[in-house]
Amino acid sequence: MSVPKRSAERSAERSAERSAELRRTLEQASVDYYVRDRPTLPDREYDTLFRELQALESAHPELRTPDSPTMRVGAEPATSFAKHSHLVPMISLANAFSDDEVGEWEARAVKVAGPAVRKTGYSAELKIDGAAVSLTYREGVLVMGATRGNGAVGEDVTTNLRTIREIPLRLRGKAGTHPPLIEIRGEVYFPFDAFEKLNEERTEAGEPVFANPRNSAAGSLRQQDSAITAARPLRFFGYAYAVPGANSLPFETQSELLKTLASWGIPTAPHHSHCRTLADVNAQAHAIETKIRGELNFGIDGIVVKVESLALQAELGDAGREPRWAIARKFAADIAETKLIRIEVNVGRTGKINPYAVLEPVEVGGTTVSRATLHNYELVKQKDLREGDTVLLKRAGDVIPQVIGPVPEKRDKKHPPPKPVIPKRCPACGTPVRASEKDLFCDNDFCEGRRLEGIVHFASRGAMDIDGLSYARIEQLLDAGLIHDLADLYELKEADIVSLERFAEKSAQALVEAIETSKQQPLSRLLFGLGIRHVGAEAAALLARNFGKLDAIAKASADEIEAVHGIGPTIAASVYEYFHDARMTKLIERLRTSGMTFSEPIRASSSDAFKGLTVVITGTLPTLSRPEAKAMIQDAGGRVTDSVSKGTSLLVVGADAGSKLDKARALGVAVIDEAELLRRLGK
Ligand code: NAD
Repeated sequence: MSVPKRSAERSAERSAERSAELRRTLEQASVDYYVRDRPTLPDREYDTLFRELQALESAHPELRTPDSPTMRVGAEPATSFAKHSHLVPMISLANAFSDDEVGEWEARAVKVAGPAVRKTGYSAELKIDGAAVSLTYREGVLVMGATRGNGAVGEDVTTNLRTIREIPLRLRGKAGTHPPLIEIRGEVYFPFDAFEKLNEERTEAGEPVFANPRNSAAGSLRQQDSAITAARPLRFFGYAYAVPGANSLPFETQSELLKTLASWGIPTAPHHSHCRTLADVNAQAHAIETKIRGELNFGIDGIVVKVESLALQAELGDAGREPRWAIARKFAADIAETKLIRIEVNVGRTGKINPYAVLEPVEVGGTTVSRATLHNYELVKQKDLREGDTVLLKRAGDVIPQVIGPVPEKRDKKHPPPKPVIPKRCPACGTPVRASEKDLFCDNDFCEGRRLEGIVHFASRGAMDIDGLSYARIEQLLDAGLIHDLADLYELKEADIVSLERFAEKSAQALVEAIETSKQQPLSRLLFGLGIRHVGAEAAALLARNFGKLDAIAKASADEIEAVHGIGPTIAASVYEYFHDARMTKLIERLRTSGMTFSEPIRASSSDAFKGLTVVITGTLPTLSRPEAKAMIQDAGGRVTDSVSKGTSLLVVGADAGSKLDKARALGVAVIDEAELLRRLGK
């Protein structure tokens, strides 16, 4: 039959054309990425095209060429460096983009090495987004440092690697106790804060910025002048090794290997865990992506899951460019490129004028982002951001999206967009702005622009905690003219809101009930929710506890307010002014009429258990919310701060604790859990 044959031929031709096209695109992208350190494709796109080529080649093995990107690692080493042949090839890793794909990887490993794979469990490590290097130690002394290159042969960058202070020139431990020859493999990376600083300096000097920390690490490492490398704060984490032939080594599992490396003075990445099951691996991947990733000062693009036993790793071996015993569980990309359409401003609840970027929607960190705060005009100026620029955007885990900076290369050189105009008046009410340090403020307490943010703050979890009163709903209520200030919330009727879009009888009723319930909130939350300038949750709690009733605060003189331990003159003056402003007293009277509690319940068991202690809370506690735990510690005389330092007395940890726990351990700070916290509080 001739017709089906012709269509089969046509399909084969199309596959051949497509695979050739994919090879060309991927090859060019690899050169841009590995050799020029300037990627021209987003990673996700590269990965998608790579998978398409892999699928085509496995369906049509005759299309696979020996130089196909699916058969190779990295790119050829640059001729400007001496070459170094690795003892054992440095290969890449297969990718998994879902829990199911990790499951398929495990099934393949079990098929090759049997159920023993499942018995010893898995090592889950951060997948550091840096540049892979190999450090050769002979009798414990660093003699060579090389890039991965094409996997078999890398570039000799020993002089540059020697400038990285944390790479030991001599391994720690007694001479003669190290393997005679060992290559320690790991990742050179560029910390985020240093990366931002470097790009700021490059922008100022009119040099092109680095697209991401990975490329700046690779670029810094491959400098001809090691003084340039030395000036860049590169860091290193080790995670693998290679030795010639069968050598007896002081470790049998991946976890023991990491411990040994650390004992030799090689830095190893935090958050490593030995997981018994794949379910534990997946839970760890999720926790790292959503909680930990945002706290790290370096880039990760996933976790690497490895079979824990090194003997089993050897038995499983490699499949071409990828080991069978490990897989990269990739996360959603956290850096993306997009267009900055406009710079707009809004007014925060304190009157702070906030510039923000309106962006061409782009997927980053697992969500689509179309807006990002620019914090203040000083930063806009420093980063030299202009409307119409192509910009780099970063978002990891739950962290708010951040514009890293423009990509000056992509700016029209002949007709560069003008610098943004810094507002002289509040965009919402026209009041002349006041500059204070890096920020601009609108001082009009009744500015229209401040209303929305003010009510959002009032309803928020730390303040009146009104369930269901989200940002969007407050916007909707304001737009419909149903509320004008926060006291109006308490006059809302079900019948008023049920007709609004996205409301039904049940949700309208629930909202009115939640507002009603909030009347019982203690004075400390109300004081915080009112948004009195300089009064944060802590100051509100101090005032509420000391005065007990709102009227007592309202009647107090500025001196009496300042007499409260922990309250300074700025807060005292601000509180005094607030309660002596006729507009505010009117608002307070309306809240009183609505039946709101204006008092602070006296806490039963005040103790001194935490007197003089500085406490940090991290992770999710099993039963207490953060504000609750904080209030209890403060009640017992403790001070609660946000970051762990030498001055921290105690760290309270919950589930999914991040880098604070590592830091506490490193500093020898005592660590307790919620049960112990409650015990010490006598509860
Ligand atoms: P990879 O980065 O996906 O993973 C393998 C590498 O991970 C290893 O070689 C090692 O260097 C590193 N790694 C980090 N932490 C590790 C740990 N704890 N244990 C073991 N290894 C660890 O693979 P690759 O071969 O380096 O690069 C391919 C990837 O690079 C692609 O998936 C793509 O995302 C990106 N790429 C992008 C472009 C582009 O144009 N954007 C071009 C080429 C490659």
